[in-house]
Amino acid sequence: RLLKNWLLHPLLDCQEIRRRQEAVEESLKKPIVRQEIRKQLRQILDLEKLTTRISLAAASPRDLVALKKSLWPLPEIESQLQDFRAETFEQIKSSWDNLQDVAGLIDRAILDEPAALLQEGGLIKAGFHQELDELRKISHSGKTFIAQIEKRERERTGISSLKVRYNKVFGYYIEVTRPNLSLVPADYQRKQTLVNSERFITPELKEYEERVLGAEARSNELEYELFLQVREEVSQQVSRLQQMAQNLALLDVLLSLAELAHQRNYTRPEVEESDILAIADGRHPVIEVVQGEPFIPNDTYLDRNENQILIITGPNMGGKSTYMRQVALITLLAQMGSFVPAKSARIGIVDRICTRVGATDDLAMGQSTFMVEMVELARILNVATKRSLIILDEIGRGTSTLDGLSIARAVIEYIHDKRRVGARTLFATHFHELACLEEELARVKNYCMTAKKDGPQMLFLRKIMRGGTDKSYGIDVARLAGLPEEVIQR
Ligand code: ATP
Repeated sequence: RLLKNWLLHPLLDCQEIRRRQEAVEESLKKPIVRQEIRKQLRQILDLEKLTTRISLAAASPRDLVALKKSLWPLPEIESQLQDFRAETFEQIKSSWDNLQDVAGLIDRAILDEPAALLQEGGLIKAGFHQELDELRKISHSGKTFIAQIEKRERERTGISSLKVRYNKVFGYYIEVTRPNLSLVPADYQRKQTLVNSERFITPELKEYEERVLGAEARSNELEYELFLQVREEVSQQVSRLQQMAQNLALLDVLLSLAELAHQRNYTRPEVEESDILAIADGRHPVIEVVQGEPFIPNDTYLDRNENQILIITGPNMGGKSTYMRQVALITLLAQMGSFVPAKSARIGIVDRICTRVGATDDLAMGQSTFMVEMVELARILNVATKRSLIILDEIGRGTSTLDGLSIARAVIEYIHDKRRVGARTLFATHFHELACLEEELARVKNYCMTAKKDGPQMLFLRKIMRGGTDKSYGIDVARLAGLPEEVIQR
Protein backbone atom coordinates (compact mmCIF):
# COMPACT_ATOMS: atom_id res chain seq x y z
CA ARG A 1 0.00 0.00 0.00
CA LEU A 2 2.80 2.42 0.77
CA LEU A 3 4.54 1.61 -2.49
CA LYS A 4 1.32 2.27 -4.36
CA ASN A 5 0.90 5.47 -2.44
CA TRP A 6 4.39 6.62 -3.45
CA LEU A 7 3.67 5.80 -7.08
CA LEU A 8 0.40 7.71 -6.98
CA HIS A 9 1.92 10.67 -5.16
CA PRO A 10 5.38 11.37 -6.55
CA LEU A 11 7.29 14.14 -4.80
CA LEU A 12 8.04 17.65 -6.00
CA ASP A 13 10.65 18.51 -3.41
CA CYS A 14 14.22 17.54 -4.39
CA GLN A 15 15.32 17.39 -0.76
CA GLU A 16 12.66 14.91 0.11
CA ILE A 17 13.38 12.82 -2.97
CA ARG A 18 17.08 12.76 -2.13
CA ARG A 19 16.32 11.60 1.38
CA ARG A 20 14.59 8.54 -0.02
CA GLN A 21 17.37 8.03 -2.55
CA GLU A 22 19.99 8.10 0.24
CA ALA A 23 18.21 5.30 2.02
CA VAL A 24 17.78 3.26 -1.17
CA GLU A 25 21.43 3.78 -2.04
CA GLU A 26 22.69 2.76 1.36
CA SER A 27 20.70 -0.43 1.38
CA LEU A 28 21.80 -1.13 -2.18
CA LYS A 29 25.40 -0.87 -1.01
CA LYS A 30 24.87 -3.12 1.99
CA PRO A 31 23.41 -6.24 0.37
CA ILE A 32 23.97 -8.62 3.27
CA VAL A 33 22.08 -6.53 5.81
CA ARG A 34 19.43 -5.81 3.19
CA GLN A 35 18.86 -9.51 2.51
CA GLU A 36 18.87 -10.27 6.20
CA ILE A 37 16.22 -7.66 7.00
CA ARG A 38 14.14 -8.63 3.98
CA LYS A 39 14.19 -12.21 5.19
CA GLN A 40 12.89 -11.09 8.58
CA LEU A 41 10.25 -8.87 6.99
CA ARG A 42 8.86 -11.85 5.14
CA GLN A 43 7.68 -13.29 8.47
CA ILE A 44 5.68 -10.18 9.24
CA LEU A 45 2.05 -10.19 8.22
CA ASP A 46 -0.12 -7.20 7.45
CA LEU A 47 0.47 -5.31 10.67
CA GLU A 48 -1.64 -2.37 9.60
CA LYS A 49 -4.68 -4.53 8.93
CA LEU A 50 -4.20 -6.54 12.12
CA THR A 51 -3.94 -3.34 14.11
CA THR A 52 -7.15 -2.04 12.60
CA ARG A 53 -8.94 -5.25 13.52
CA ILE A 54 -7.65 -4.99 17.04
CA SER A 55 -8.70 -1.38 17.41
CA LEU A 56 -12.19 -2.25 16.14
CA ALA A 57 -12.38 -5.13 18.62
CA ALA A 58 -12.76 -7.40 15.60
CA ALA A 59 -9.56 -9.38 16.03
CA SER A 60 -9.89 -13.14 16.49
CA PRO A 61 -7.56 -15.26 18.63
CA ARG A 62 -5.87 -16.27 15.40
CA ASP A 63 -5.33 -12.61 14.57
CA LEU A 64 -3.60 -12.19 17.90
CA VAL A 65 -1.34 -15.14 17.16
CA ALA A 66 -0.59 -13.65 13.75
CA LEU A 67 0.24 -10.39 15.48
CA LYS A 68 2.57 -12.15 17.88
CA LYS A 69 4.39 -13.90 15.04
CA SER A 70 4.73 -10.55 13.30
CA LEU A 71 6.25 -8.96 16.38
CA TRP A 72 8.80 -11.64 17.22
CA PRO A 73 11.29 -10.62 14.47
CA LEU A 74 11.37 -6.95 15.52
CA PRO A 75 14.39 -7.08 17.86
CA GLU A 76 16.42 -8.88 15.21
CA ILE A 77 15.48 -6.27 12.60
CA GLU A 78 16.35 -3.51 15.02
CA SER A 79 19.80 -4.89 15.59
CA GLN A 80 20.37 -5.32 11.84
CA LEU A 81 19.24 -1.75 11.31
CA GLN A 82 22.14 -0.44 13.37
CA ASP A 83 24.29 -0.70 10.24
CA PHE A 84 22.10 1.74 8.34
CA ARG A 85 22.83 5.43 8.82
CA ALA A 86 20.81 7.31 6.21
CA GLU A 87 18.52 9.96 7.65
CA THR A 88 15.33 8.03 6.93
CA PHE A 89 16.75 4.96 8.65
CA GLU A 90 17.70 7.10 11.63
CA GLN A 91 14.10 8.27 11.81
CA ILE A 92 12.87 4.71 11.69
CA LYS A 93 15.33 3.71 14.40
CA SER A 94 14.43 6.59 16.69
CA SER A 95 10.74 5.70 16.62
CA TRP A 96 11.38 1.95 16.75
CA ASP A 97 9.48 -0.10 19.29
CA ASN A 98 10.08 -3.82 19.60
CA LEU A 99 6.67 -4.40 21.19
CA GLN A 100 7.92 -7.54 22.86
CA ASP A 101 5.66 -6.87 25.85
CA VAL A 102 2.67 -7.22 23.53
CA ALA A 103 4.08 -10.31 21.85
CA GLY A 104 4.89 -11.77 25.28
CA LEU A 105 1.39 -11.21 26.59
CA ILE A 106 -0.18 -12.92 23.60
CA ASP A 107 2.34 -15.71 23.84
CA ARG A 108 1.58 -16.38 27.50
CA ALA A 109 -2.17 -16.22 27.00
CA ILE A 110 -3.24 -17.52 23.63
CA LEU A 111 -2.70 -21.03 22.28
CA ASP A 112 -0.50 -21.19 19.19
CA GLU A 113 -3.33 -22.73 17.21
CA PRO A 114 -6.47 -21.41 18.87
CA ALA A 115 -9.96 -22.57 17.98
CA ALA A 116 -11.89 -20.61 15.38
CA LEU A 117 -15.00 -20.38 17.57
CA LEU A 118 -14.78 -18.04 20.51
CA GLN A 119 -17.08 -19.59 23.07
CA GLU A 120 -16.17 -23.26 23.01
CA GLY A 121 -12.79 -23.25 24.65
CA GLY A 122 -9.48 -24.01 23.00
CA LEU A 123 -8.17 -20.44 23.24
CA ILE A 124 -6.08 -20.00 26.35
CA LYS A 125 -2.81 -21.62 27.30
CA ALA A 126 -2.33 -23.64 30.48
CA GLY A 127 -0.58 -21.70 33.21
CA PHE A 128 -2.03 -18.33 32.21
CA HIS A 129 -4.86 -18.25 34.71
CA GLN A 130 -5.16 -20.21 37.94
CA GLU A 131 -8.93 -20.63 38.05
CA LEU A 132 -8.98 -21.82 34.47
CA ASP A 133 -6.34 -24.40 35.23
CA GLU A 134 -8.38 -25.68 38.17
CA LEU A 135 -11.61 -25.90 36.20
CA ARG A 136 -9.80 -27.82 33.52
CA LYS A 137 -8.45 -30.22 36.13
CA ILE A 138 -11.94 -30.86 37.51
CA SER A 139 -13.43 -31.41 34.11
CA HIS A 140 -10.57 -33.69 33.11
CA SER A 141 -10.62 -35.80 36.25
CA GLY A 142 -14.42 -36.10 35.99
CA LYS A 143 -14.05 -37.44 32.45
CA THR A 144 -11.47 -39.92 33.57
CA PHE A 145 -13.74 -41.06 36.37
CA ILE A 146 -16.67 -41.52 33.99
CA ALA A 147 -14.50 -43.63 31.74
CA GLN A 148 -13.73 -45.80 34.75
CA ILE A 149 -17.42 -46.20 35.53
CA GLU A 150 -17.88 -48.07 32.25
CA LYS A 151 -15.26 -50.65 33.19
CA ARG A 152 -16.60 -51.03 36.73
CA GLU A 153 -20.22 -51.44 35.63
CA ARG A 154 -19.31 -54.04 33.04
CA GLU A 155 -17.74 -56.07 35.77
CA ARG A 156 -20.56 -55.51 38.24
CA THR A 157 -23.38 -56.41 35.80
CA GLY A 158 -21.56 -58.94 33.65
CA ILE A 159 -22.71 -57.06 30.50
CA SER A 160 -19.57 -56.89 28.41
CA SER A 161 -21.17 -54.67 25.73
CA LEU A 162 -22.30 -52.02 28.28
CA LYS A 163 -21.25 -48.54 27.21
CA VAL A 164 -21.09 -45.11 28.83
CA ARG A 165 -21.85 -42.52 26.22
CA TYR A 166 -22.60 -38.82 25.92
CA ASN A 167 -24.92 -36.74 23.81
CA LYS A 168 -26.03 -33.16 23.93
CA VAL A 169 -29.67 -33.95 24.84
CA PHE A 170 -29.25 -36.45 27.69
CA GLY A 171 -25.72 -35.83 28.80
CA TYR A 172 -23.99 -39.01 30.02
CA TYR A 173 -25.91 -42.31 29.97
CA ILE A 174 -25.34 -46.05 30.11
CA GLU A 175 -26.41 -48.04 27.08
CA VAL A 176 -27.40 -51.70 27.30
CA THR A 177 -28.39 -53.80 24.30
CA ARG A 178 -31.74 -55.55 24.27
CA PRO A 179 -30.55 -59.14 24.91
CA ASN A 180 -28.80 -57.99 28.10
CA LEU A 181 -31.68 -56.06 29.63
CA SER A 182 -32.42 -58.80 32.15
CA LEU A 183 -29.02 -58.16 33.73
CA VAL A 184 -29.65 -54.46 34.40
CA PRO A 185 -29.41 -53.69 38.16
CA ALA A 186 -32.20 -52.01 40.09
CA ASP A 187 -30.40 -48.70 40.62
CA TYR A 188 -30.37 -47.95 36.89
CA GLN A 189 -33.05 -45.44 35.87
CA ARG A 190 -34.52 -45.89 32.42
CA LYS A 191 -34.17 -42.78 30.26
CA GLN A 192 -34.84 -43.77 26.66
CA THR A 193 -35.81 -46.84 24.64
CA LEU A 194 -34.33 -47.45 21.22
CA VAL A 195 -34.94 -50.29 18.75
CA ASN A 196 -32.01 -52.38 19.85
CA SER A 197 -31.07 -50.94 23.20
CA GLU A 198 -32.11 -48.97 26.24
CA ARG A 199 -30.42 -46.02 27.85
CA PHE A 200 -30.09 -45.53 31.60
CA ILE A 201 -28.70 -43.05 34.04
CA THR A 202 -27.54 -43.43 37.63
CA PRO A 203 -27.30 -40.77 40.36
CA GLU A 204 -23.55 -41.21 40.44
CA LEU A 205 -23.24 -40.64 36.72
CA LYS A 206 -25.36 -37.52 36.94
CA GLU A 207 -23.28 -36.14 39.76
CA TYR A 208 -20.07 -36.44 37.77
CA GLU A 209 -21.77 -35.20 34.68
CA GLU A 210 -22.74 -32.04 36.49
CA ARG A 211 -19.25 -31.58 37.71
CA VAL A 212 -17.71 -32.13 34.27
CA LEU A 213 -20.20 -30.08 32.32
CA GLY A 214 -20.32 -27.32 34.89
CA ALA A 215 -16.57 -27.04 34.93
CA GLU A 216 -16.41 -27.17 31.17
CA ALA A 217 -19.04 -24.52 30.67
CA ARG A 218 -17.43 -22.25 33.20
CA SER A 219 -14.02 -22.88 31.72
CA ASN A 220 -15.19 -22.05 28.18
CA GLU A 221 -16.79 -18.91 29.46
CA LEU A 222 -13.66 -17.98 31.32
CA GLU A 223 -11.48 -18.59 28.28
CA TYR A 224 -13.67 -16.25 26.29
CA GLU A 225 -13.47 -13.59 29.01
CA LEU A 226 -9.71 -13.95 29.22
CA PHE A 227 -9.38 -13.65 25.47
CA LEU A 228 -11.44 -10.43 25.53
CA GLN A 229 -9.23 -9.11 28.30
CA VAL A 230 -6.06 -9.87 26.40
CA ARG A 231 -7.46 -8.31 23.26
CA GLU A 232 -8.48 -5.25 25.23
CA GLU A 233 -5.02 -5.00 26.74
CA VAL A 234 -3.42 -5.28 23.30
CA SER A 235 -5.78 -2.64 21.96
CA GLN A 236 -4.41 -0.22 24.55
CA GLN A 237 -1.19 -0.37 22.51
CA VAL A 238 -2.75 0.44 19.16
CA SER A 239 -0.86 3.66 18.62
CA ARG A 240 2.44 1.87 19.18
CA LEU A 241 1.38 -0.83 16.74
CA GLN A 242 0.39 1.75 14.16
CA GLN A 243 3.70 3.51 14.52
CA MET A 244 5.55 0.27 13.90
CA ALA A 245 3.29 -0.67 11.00
CA GLN A 246 4.37 2.58 9.39
CA ASN A 247 8.03 2.02 10.15
CA LEU A 248 7.94 -1.47 8.72
CA ALA A 249 6.11 -0.35 5.59
CA LEU A 250 8.67 2.37 5.03
CA LEU A 251 11.55 -0.02 5.60
CA ASP A 252 9.98 -2.59 3.31
CA VAL A 253 9.47 -0.12 0.46
CA LEU A 254 12.98 1.31 0.71
CA LEU A 255 14.58 -2.13 0.76
CA SER A 256 12.37 -3.30 -2.10
CA LEU A 257 13.43 -0.35 -4.20
CA ALA A 258 17.06 -1.19 -3.41
CA GLU A 259 16.47 -4.82 -4.33
CA LEU A 260 14.85 -3.73 -7.58
CA ALA A 261 17.77 -1.43 -8.35
CA HIS A 262 20.12 -4.32 -7.66
CA GLN A 263 18.28 -6.95 -9.70
CA ARG A 264 17.48 -4.76 -12.68
CA ASN A 265 20.56 -2.63 -12.68
CA TYR A 266 18.92 0.71 -12.00
CA THR A 267 20.90 3.88 -11.28
CA ARG A 268 20.32 6.79 -9.00
CA PRO A 269 18.90 9.72 -10.96
CA GLU A 270 19.97 13.26 -10.20
CA VAL A 271 16.90 15.24 -9.33
CA GLU A 272 17.19 18.98 -9.65
CA GLU A 273 15.23 22.19 -9.92
CA SER A 274 16.03 22.62 -13.60
CA ASP A 275 14.10 22.20 -16.81
CA ILE A 276 16.40 19.49 -18.07
CA LEU A 277 15.36 15.93 -18.62
CA ALA A 278 18.41 13.98 -19.71
CA ILE A 279 18.39 10.20 -19.80
CA ALA A 280 21.24 8.04 -21.07
CA ASP A 281 20.37 4.53 -22.15
CA GLY A 282 16.90 4.62 -20.68
CA ARG A 283 14.79 1.47 -20.67
CA HIS A 284 11.11 0.72 -20.22
CA PRO A 285 10.88 -0.81 -16.73
CA VAL A 286 8.09 -3.24 -17.61
CA ILE A 287 8.72 -4.14 -21.24
CA GLU A 288 12.38 -4.91 -20.58
CA VAL A 289 11.21 -7.55 -18.12
CA VAL A 290 8.20 -9.11 -19.80
CA GLN A 291 9.59 -9.20 -23.32
CA GLY A 292 11.66 -12.17 -24.40
CA GLU A 293 14.05 -10.35 -26.71
CA PRO A 294 16.67 -7.90 -25.42
CA PHE A 295 15.51 -4.36 -24.85
CA ILE A 296 17.25 -1.60 -26.82
CA PRO A 297 18.09 1.37 -24.55
CA ASN A 298 17.61 4.92 -25.80
CA ASP A 299 18.73 8.42 -24.85
CA THR A 300 16.49 11.40 -24.22
CA TYR A 301 17.24 15.07 -23.92
CA LEU A 302 14.61 17.69 -23.19
CA ASP A 303 14.89 21.24 -21.90
CA ARG A 304 12.98 24.47 -22.34
CA ASN A 305 15.49 26.31 -24.51
CA GLU A 306 16.06 24.35 -27.67
CA ASN A 307 14.68 20.91 -27.05
CA GLN A 308 11.26 21.54 -25.63
CA ILE A 309 9.18 19.47 -28.03
CA LEU A 310 10.42 16.30 -29.66
CA ILE A 311 8.35 15.20 -32.62
CA ILE A 312 8.85 11.49 -32.97
CA THR A 313 8.11 9.72 -36.22
CA GLY A 314 8.98 6.28 -37.45
CA PRO A 315 7.46 3.02 -38.61
CA ASN A 316 4.51 1.34 -37.03
CA MET A 317 5.80 -1.08 -34.42
CA GLY A 318 8.96 1.01 -34.32
CA GLY A 319 8.87 1.59 -30.57
CA LYS A 320 7.59 5.18 -30.35
CA SER A 321 4.98 4.57 -27.69
CA THR A 322 7.36 2.45 -25.67
CA TYR A 323 9.99 5.17 -25.83
CA MET A 324 7.66 7.94 -24.70
CA ARG A 325 6.23 5.88 -21.88
CA GLN A 326 9.67 4.93 -20.66
CA VAL A 327 10.56 8.62 -20.35
CA ALA A 328 7.38 9.22 -18.34
CA LEU A 329 7.95 6.16 -16.15
CA ILE A 330 11.58 7.03 -15.47
CA THR A 331 10.49 10.51 -14.42
CA LEU A 332 7.78 9.10 -12.18
CA LEU A 333 10.13 6.56 -10.61
CA ALA A 334 12.72 9.27 -10.02
CA GLN A 335 10.23 11.52 -8.29
CA MET A 336 8.97 8.79 -6.01
CA GLY A 337 12.54 8.34 -4.80
CA SER A 338 13.34 5.17 -6.73
CA PHE A 339 16.37 4.43 -8.85
CA VAL A 340 15.65 4.24 -12.57
CA PRO A 341 16.28 1.91 -15.52
CA ALA A 342 18.97 3.94 -17.27
CA LYS A 343 22.72 4.33 -17.35
CA SER A 344 22.29 7.82 -15.95
CA ALA A 345 19.50 10.34 -15.62
CA ARG A 346 19.08 13.99 -14.73
CA ILE A 347 15.53 14.82 -13.89
CA GLY A 348 14.51 18.45 -13.64
CA ILE A 349 11.46 18.05 -11.43
CA VAL A 350 8.14 17.98 -13.31
CA ASP A 351 4.93 19.10 -11.64
CA ARG A 352 2.68 16.81 -13.69
CA ILE A 353 2.95 14.09 -16.24
CA CYS A 354 0.13 14.76 -18.71
CA THR A 355 -0.79 12.02 -21.07
CA ARG A 356 -3.70 10.42 -22.79
CA VAL A 357 -4.39 6.97 -21.55
CA GLY A 358 -6.99 6.49 -24.22
CA ALA A 359 -7.15 2.72 -23.90
CA THR A 360 -10.85 2.55 -23.18
CA ASP A 361 -13.67 3.97 -25.19
CA ASP A 362 -16.46 5.65 -23.39
CA LEU A 363 -19.29 4.93 -25.79
CA ALA A 364 -21.68 4.14 -22.97
CA MET A 365 -21.12 7.58 -21.50
CA GLY A 366 -22.28 9.17 -24.70
CA GLN A 367 -18.83 10.03 -26.04
CA SER A 368 -17.26 8.76 -29.21
CA THR A 369 -13.66 7.59 -29.37
CA PHE A 370 -12.54 10.82 -30.97
CA MET A 371 -14.57 12.90 -28.52
CA VAL A 372 -12.86 11.18 -25.58
CA GLU A 373 -9.49 11.88 -27.14
CA MET A 374 -10.34 15.56 -27.57
CA VAL A 375 -11.73 15.86 -24.04
CA GLU A 376 -8.51 14.44 -22.64
CA LEU A 377 -6.42 16.65 -24.86
CA ALA A 378 -8.40 19.72 -23.81
CA ARG A 379 -7.78 18.86 -20.20
CA ILE A 380 -4.06 18.46 -20.77
CA LEU A 381 -3.80 21.82 -22.52
CA ASN A 382 -5.70 23.43 -19.67
CA VAL A 383 -3.79 21.96 -16.74
CA ALA A 384 -0.23 21.65 -18.07
CA THR A 385 2.28 24.22 -16.85
CA LYS A 386 5.75 25.05 -18.05
CA ARG A 387 7.09 22.54 -15.51
CA SER A 388 4.94 19.67 -16.78
CA LEU A 389 5.92 16.75 -18.94
CA ILE A 390 3.47 16.10 -21.78
CA ILE A 391 3.33 12.82 -23.64
CA LEU A 392 1.08 12.81 -26.69
CA ASP A 393 0.75 9.70 -28.83
CA GLU A 394 -0.74 10.10 -32.28
CA ILE A 395 -3.07 12.96 -31.56
CA GLY A 396 -5.67 13.57 -34.27
CA ARG A 397 -5.81 10.08 -35.65
CA GLY A 398 -9.49 9.40 -35.26
CA THR A 399 -10.80 11.98 -37.69
CA SER A 400 -10.19 13.01 -41.28
CA THR A 401 -6.54 13.44 -42.21
CA LEU A 402 -6.82 17.16 -42.78
CA ASP A 403 -8.69 17.82 -39.54
CA GLY A 404 -6.34 15.57 -37.58
CA LEU A 405 -3.23 17.13 -39.04
CA SER A 406 -4.57 20.61 -38.35
CA ILE A 407 -5.35 19.77 -34.74
CA ALA A 408 -1.93 18.16 -34.24
CA ARG A 409 -0.09 21.13 -35.64
CA ALA A 410 -2.10 23.70 -33.72
CA VAL A 411 -1.57 21.75 -30.49
CA ILE A 412 2.20 21.68 -30.99
CA GLU A 413 2.23 25.41 -31.67
CA TYR A 414 0.16 26.05 -28.58
CA ILE A 415 2.40 23.96 -26.32
CA HIS A 416 5.47 25.54 -27.88
CA ASP A 417 4.25 28.98 -26.95
CA LYS A 418 5.84 29.79 -23.58
CA ARG A 419 3.05 32.19 -22.74
CA ARG A 420 0.53 29.38 -23.21
CA VAL A 421 2.12 26.16 -21.98
CA GLY A 422 5.85 25.86 -22.67
CA ALA A 423 6.06 22.32 -21.25
CA ARG A 424 8.59 19.69 -22.18
CA THR A 425 6.78 17.43 -24.62
CA LEU A 426 7.15 14.19 -26.52
CA PHE A 427 4.85 14.00 -29.50
CA ALA A 428 4.64 10.83 -31.59
CA THR A 429 2.86 11.00 -34.91
CA HIS A 430 2.45 9.46 -38.34
CA PHE A 431 1.75 12.90 -39.83
CA HIS A 432 5.16 13.26 -41.42
CA GLU A 433 4.21 16.72 -42.59
CA LEU A 434 4.75 17.91 -39.02
CA ALA A 435 8.51 17.47 -39.41
CA CYS A 436 8.54 20.88 -41.07
CA LEU A 437 7.78 22.47 -37.70
CA GLU A 438 11.43 22.06 -36.73
CA GLU A 439 12.18 24.78 -39.26
CA GLU A 440 9.44 27.06 -38.06
CA LEU A 441 9.46 26.70 -34.27
CA ALA A 442 12.64 27.37 -32.31
CA ARG A 443 12.29 24.69 -29.70
CA VAL A 444 10.99 21.78 -31.77
CA LYS A 445 13.31 18.93 -32.70
CA ASN A 446 12.62 15.95 -34.94
CA TYR A 447 13.49 12.46 -33.91
CA CYS A 448 12.67 9.15 -35.48
CA MET A 449 12.66 5.49 -34.67
CA THR A 450 14.81 3.65 -37.09
CA ALA A 451 13.86 0.65 -39.18
CA LYS A 452 15.25 -0.94 -42.29
CA LYS A 453 13.70 -2.93 -45.05
CA ASP A 454 15.71 -5.99 -45.84
CA GLY A 455 13.99 -7.29 -48.98
CA PRO A 456 10.43 -8.04 -47.88
CA GLN A 457 11.62 -8.29 -44.25
CA MET A 458 11.20 -5.38 -41.82
CA LEU A 459 14.08 -4.82 -39.47
CA PHE A 460 13.16 -2.72 -36.43
CA LEU A 461 16.29 -1.19 -34.90
CA ARG A 462 14.37 0.58 -32.11
CA LYS A 463 17.07 3.20 -31.84
CA ILE A 464 15.96 6.81 -31.65
CA MET A 465 17.83 9.20 -33.96
CA ARG A 466 17.80 12.88 -34.85
CA GLY A 467 15.74 13.75 -37.92
CA GLY A 468 12.35 13.03 -39.36
CA THR A 469 11.19 10.24 -41.57
CA ASP A 470 8.66 10.07 -44.35
CA LYS A 471 7.97 6.37 -44.00
CA SER A 472 5.57 4.56 -41.71
CA TYR A 473 5.93 1.17 -43.39
CA GLY A 474 2.26 0.68 -42.62
CA ILE A 475 1.77 -1.75 -45.46
CA ASP A 476 4.77 -3.82 -44.43
CA VAL A 477 3.51 -4.01 -40.88
CA ALA A 478 0.07 -4.95 -42.21
CA ARG A 479 1.70 -7.84 -44.08
CA LEU A 480 3.54 -8.84 -40.90
CA ALA A 481 0.20 -8.90 -39.17
CA GLY A 482 -1.15 -11.37 -41.73
CA LEU A 483 -3.46 -9.35 -43.98
CA PRO A 484 -4.36 -11.40 -47.10
CA GLU A 485 -1.66 -10.96 -49.77
CA GLU A 486 -4.32 -9.86 -52.26
CA VAL A 487 -5.14 -6.94 -50.02
CA ILE A 488 -1.48 -6.09 -49.56
CA GLN A 489 -0.88 -6.17 -53.34
CA ARG A 490 -3.93 -4.10 -54.08
P1 ATP B 1 2.66 2.22 -33.73
O1 ATP B 1 3.05 3.45 -34.45
O2 ATP B 1 2.28 1.12 -34.67
O3 ATP B 1 1.69 2.41 -32.62
P2 ATP B 1 5.01 2.27 -32.02
O4 ATP B 1 6.12 2.89 -32.78
O5 ATP B 1 4.30 3.10 -31.03
O6 ATP B 1 4.01 1.60 -33.01
P3 ATP B 1 5.51 0.45 -29.85
O7 ATP B 1 4.12 0.09 -29.59
O8 ATP B 1 6.18 1.38 -28.93
O9 ATP B 1 5.65 0.96 -31.34
O10 ATP B 1 6.45 -0.83 -29.89
C1 ATP B 1 6.07 -2.02 -30.52
C2 ATP B 1 6.75 -3.19 -29.85
O11 ATP B 1 8.14 -3.14 -30.04
C3 ATP B 1 6.60 -3.18 -28.34
O12 ATP B 1 5.47 -3.90 -27.94
C4 ATP B 1 7.85 -3.85 -27.84
O13 ATP B 1 7.64 -5.23 -27.73
C5 ATP B 1 8.86 -3.61 -28.91
N1 ATP B 1 9.81 -2.56 -28.50
C6 ATP B 1 9.56 -1.23 -28.44
N2 ATP B 1 10.65 -0.55 -28.06
C7 ATP B 1 11.63 -1.46 -27.89
C8 ATP B 1 13.01 -1.37 -27.50
N3 ATP B 1 13.59 -0.20 -27.24
N4 ATP B 1 13.72 -2.54 -27.43
C9 ATP B 1 13.13 -3.70 -27.71
N5 ATP B 1 11.86 -3.84 -28.06
C10 ATP B 1 11.09 -2.75 -28.16
